[in-house]
Amino acid sequence: MNYKVGIVGATGAVGQELISLLVSRGFPFSEIRLFASSRSAGKTVEVAGGSYVVEEAKPEVFEGLDVAIFSASSSISRELGPEAARRGCVVIDNSSAFRMDVDVPLIIPEINPDAAAVHKGIIANPNCTTAVALMGLSPLHTEFGLKRFFASTYQAVSGSGISGIRELQEQAEDYVAGKTDFKTETYPHPIAFNLIPHAGVFLDSGYTTEELKMQNESRKILGIPDLKVSCTCVRVPVFRAHSVSIQAEFERPVSVERAREVVLAFPGAELSDDPSSNKYPMPADYSGKEACGIGRLRIDTALENGLALWTVGDQLWKGAALNAVQIAELLHERNYWAFER
Ligand code: NAP
Repeated sequence: MNYKVGIVGATGAVGQELISLLVSRGFPFSEIRLFASSRSAGKTVEVAGGSYVVEEAKPEVFEGLDVAIFSASSSISRELGPEAARRGCVVIDNSSAFRMDVDVPLIIPEINPDAAAVHKGIIANPNCTTAVALMGLSPLHTEFGLKRFFASTYQAVSGSGISGIRELQEQAEDYVAGKTDFKTETYPHPIAFNLIPHAGVFLDSGYTTEELKMQNESRKILGIPDLKVSCTCVRVPVFRAHSVSIQAEFERPVSVERAREVVLAFPGAELSDDPSSNKYPMPADYSGKEACGIGRLRIDTALENGLALWTVGDQLWKGAALNAVQIAELLHERNYWAFER
């Protein structure tokens, strides 16, 4: 079957990657329609050498579509996602709007593909840092039984979309031109040559919404309802690919040798771990790469049955566009399209 596909947020950082991945991975579509806000309606976007006109996203545009991948914002997903599903169009949503809803599967195809079998027309894609972290933690959990973990993230500016990329670019150019009174719009502080320990919105607990996603979404995807997670999210002046430093405690005794073996065997993960030759994953090497890199595996000296590790992944891909296309491929391969309206 060839599908009629819609992309909401087609002009954005994730939307652009979605278009190129749908084409390069050969997803079977007979028609593709591109949606954005009224600001971009009428613009043309190239898809596989053809020119496509962007349309304003409205409820009626989903009529007749088989699947729509949403990459706009949580509010757009909340407004238009149910409208698309009501018209029989399966929604794969990159925003955080529905991730924790009990009726909505939250899927990383290498980890919990079976959970996509039953849905109500909306399937969620996880938070980008959570996806990158779980590509390392999932095989270790299967082998040793994950009990709790601590994470510090190093999040690229493209995680904030096109405005984040622009802000780092402009500040870096200003710096080179000798100007240091940087204009800040996307972030509360300059991001060039700086670190900002703040992603998401601060909660009364002192954690941010982004940090809480690491706990809640990991629980749902790994199926560990009482998993304990403490996370600190940091925005770094890197254009693309998030990194996560993790200290994890397990139920059963661990060994670095076995940890390396299970990571090596896990699809979508790439073991990059040879300290003797300075080999470890870095964002520069994992931008535009499908696999997430896992390295710096070592026995954690502060935890019982503990392992420390470092994971890196292209968040525009595994944290968003690639994972969403993989979900569409999963629905296609297993014929998981049916749902009750
Ligand atoms: P972005 O670069 O800012 O792009 C936003 C897109 O949404 C643009 O295409 C924009 O279209 C569209 N949009 C804005 N208002 C709209 C409206 N009223 N109706 C329809 N479309 C509208 O952001 P992004 O980074 O691609 O992120 C998109 C979504 O993916 C967000 O929910 C984000 O949380 C999620 N996500 C992003 C990443 C990442 O690494 N960036 C990772 C995981 C999840 P216009 O051209 O018309 O403004």
